[in-house]
Amino acid sequence: MSSETEEKRSKAQPNGCERAFVKRSKIKWFWAPAFLGFWLLLYVTISIPACHRLPRPLTIQDEDKHPDQFIAERAEKNLRELVTLGPRVVGSRQNEMAALKMLSQKMQKIRSGTVNDIEVDVQVASGSYVHWSMVNMYQSIQNIVVKISPKNSNSTTYLLVNSHYDSVPAGPGAGDDGSMVATMMEVLRVLAKSDKPLKNPVVFLFNGAEENPLQASHAFITQHKWAKYCKALINLDSCGNGGREILFQSGPNHPWLMKNYRRAIKHPYASTMGEELFQHNFIPSDTDFRIFRDHGSVPGLDMAYTYNGFVYHTRHDTAEIFPRGSFQHTGDNLLALVRQIANSPEIENSAKYAKGHTIYFDVLGWFLVFYTETEGIILNVIVSLVSIGICGYAVKLMSVNSGIKLEKILKKVGHTLLVQILSVVVGTILPVLLGLFMDAVHLPLSWFSNSWLILGLYFTTFFFGLAIVPAMYFHWTKQDKLPIGQRIQLLLHCHCVLLSVLALILTICKIRSAFVLMLSCLFYTVGLIINIATKLHTKDVAWVIPHIVCTVPPFLFLAYFSHGFFTTFIPMFGRFGENLNPDLAVAVFSVAVGFLCCGFIIPVLQLFNKSKTIICGLLGITLLCFIIAMTPIGFPYRPNTNVQRFAVLHTKRTFHDAENKVRRQESGYFIMPQDRRTYTVKNAVINMTQAQRIGSDCDKEINCGLPLYNQRWHKTRKNSLWIPASEPRLGENLPTVILLSKNTVSATRIRYEMQLSGPNHMALFIQPLNGAKMMDWSFHQAPLRLSFEPPYFIYFSWGVNGDPLKFWLELEKPNGNWNSSTLELGLGGHWTHHKELITPDFKKFLDSFPHYVDATPWPASFESRIF
Ligand SMILES: [Zn+2]
Repeated sequence: MSSETEEKRSKAQPNGCERAFVKRSKIKWFWAPAFLGFWLLLYVTISIPACHRLPRPLTIQDEDKHPDQFIAERAEKNLRELVTLGPRVVGSRQNEMAALKMLSQKMQKIRSGTVNDIEVDVQVASGSYVHWSMVNMYQSIQNIVVKISPKNSNSTTYLLVNSHYDSVPAGPGAGDDGSMVATMMEVLRVLAKSDKPLKNPVVFLFNGAEENPLQASHAFITQHKWAKYCKALINLDSCGNGGREILFQSGPNHPWLMKNYRRAIKHPYASTMGEELFQHNFIPSDTDFRIFRDHGSVPGLDMAYTYNGFVYHTRHDTAEIFPRGSFQHTGDNLLALVRQIANSPEIENSAKYAKGHTIYFDVLGWFLVFYTETEGIILNVIVSLVSIGICGYAVKLMSVNSGIKLEKILKKVGHTLLVQILSVVVGTILPVLLGLFMDAVHLPLSWFSNSWLILGLYFTTFFFGLAIVPAMYFHWTKQDKLPIGQRIQLLLHCHCVLLSVLALILTICKIRSAFVLMLSCLFYTVGLIINIATKLHTKDVAWVIPHIVCTVPPFLFLAYFSHGFFTTFIPMFGRFGENLNPDLAVAVFSVAVGFLCCGFIIPVLQLFNKSKTIICGLLGITLLCFIIAMTPIGFPYRPNTNVQRFAVLHTKRTFHDAENKVRRQESGYFIMPQDRRTYTVKNAVINMTQAQRIGSDCDKEINCGLPLYNQRWHKTRKNSLWIPASEPRLGENLPTVILLSKNTVSATRIRYEMQLSGPNHMALFIQPLNGAKMMDWSFHQAPLRLSFEPPYFIYFSWGVNGDPLKFWLELEKPNGNWNSSTLELGLGGHWTHHKELITPDFKKFLDSFPHYVDATPWPASFESRIF
């Protein structure tokens, strides 16, 4: 070493008593809890409140002072009126008559005294479409369509606004989607009497069959007289109750919609990441948005409530718990958005503006950031490369200042990079193992009611892994000439390089959510530039101040963003089914979120004295939370608020042989496990210990002998449980298939004409037998054209008119042998909204469920017939 570099080194770090100084230059250990507490405090006092902040709701008294504005109290009244009707299932009197009447009367009231033209149309429609692998067929379902246009307008460009007034059988459907219907009504009222001009008409579609699923939007967009004029869409739905509505899908393409959203919106809440998650089917729901997009090519904005998903599709989705502030939030936004888009020049020639995807996100609900995908790519690439460049420059400076040769420093960089990668790997493995362990010891979902347990169980384990590896590395290489402060900076640079590379990879893979990584790198690099400019980077501890200051903004944003993400997802684990280990999924989420939010924070722990003890303290928190998870606090369910879901079908099944004789008949309860902890009820529920998996029936019977009509259940049907029981009480209109005629078309082809009648929810499964092949039929052609695997699944549902459905099937047998049977039909029937059909036995069975369970009961039938 030359004397010159020797001199430089002694300047940078006092030699001789060097190590003692370095040790002294570490921060005293008791500041470490304060350091961690600081970030927790930011999260709790800024990020979480930002996630739940609602505007002050306006009351009817405020109306004079706030003319032309959305009045939350009125929307609330609308909702209460709608919800008093009870569950509004397609085909029920509540949906097809009472709700229709109530809405029509409201519209008449709005019509009187308006300065605009208001047309009300009740659409009754029949049709079908293919949804996943099922033909979804509807007959006489209804829509109420209201068009508001400026007086004497001849514009042929309409804006469509959609929400649904029907509900699932299980509950009153206040959040989903009565709240949006009520909001639409209030927006319509304000628009009707407003003298602010509306350039183009707005069509409000009060949709009568969304839960069925998505039939009414299909009916509208493929058949209604106004459909072809609808050039843009605002879709309003819900998988929760209350909170703020999030914009989670836009376009596809059509960035002008987002531009108008940004201009108009009063309370922004939007996320590109939500869009990507939704479009890659991570979320077990679907909205009408898909139908409008796929069957009508209408671009639009898709918004929904996601807060309090615990009550979604249960009897606890009530109007009483829906906050008035949520109405104001959505109402303000919707009113402004409708005016903005209906008056925008782009809607009149939207094809011209249909270019490219967008990246958008709100910052703590304060403002919206929005740019095009191309701008995003440029931004990601520039920020990533500049970050890598500045980190490289900082390393070079480190070599100059410490007097250590660049080659040696680069070798250290290599080691540190490996250490950082290893720490992420260890940090990932530990929570994953814990997730598997929690499931194995029958403690999954312990955080379902107390979500903070996720922090204590999975985040702490991840942070432990992330911190202990570098701590050991620093411990084992104590003799290193580089002071600890510099080595920690190197660790942070390596983390930044990792993030930058990841951001580049995601950008190449066209994943728009890469922007979150870019943001982290951006702020870190700004902090680094400040450190270099002020020469603080040469200090042992002082550099940490610019670093922390620059970490605060991305932390607040990412913590806010992640909190919304967890709030949305946690309730969904109550309905992801039995096959998914929820703790494993939450462990993976925690790793991803922890890596993003705290990747630049956790390494700073190394700067404290007794860092290893502090890091091990994190495991102490994990242990404590594990103990809590074993107590009643960790029991997932709470009556009324965090319920466990069950669907129970009191079913009679009858199987016929080729001679049409009954070969098997039985009655019992079908139970569809909705989450991982079906076993928690086994000691309470009558005969639950005798429950059998119906898996073996799947090899023997058509559709496992299951009456299921819900597409979502099909993936997990083998898990269904069967408990023998007394016969159900079924409605008068039993599902029936009548063979009207059987005609030979040619030596190898035969044609059946049949008729199907029964209750308003039926499932028909068709299985060709003995080498027969389905060649043609009167149903939707797609399953045959696309060669779907039999049995074919036709879901048939009707609204106001239950007339029998006539259909025909044409089958071919290459050997022309028609002596053997050709066809098996499986026929499921459901009485989804008939309380009077619940037998005393069934009631007793339902009552035996613990009080934290929300069981949706209905009688059902299944019959197999051979032709
Ligand atoms: Zn809905």
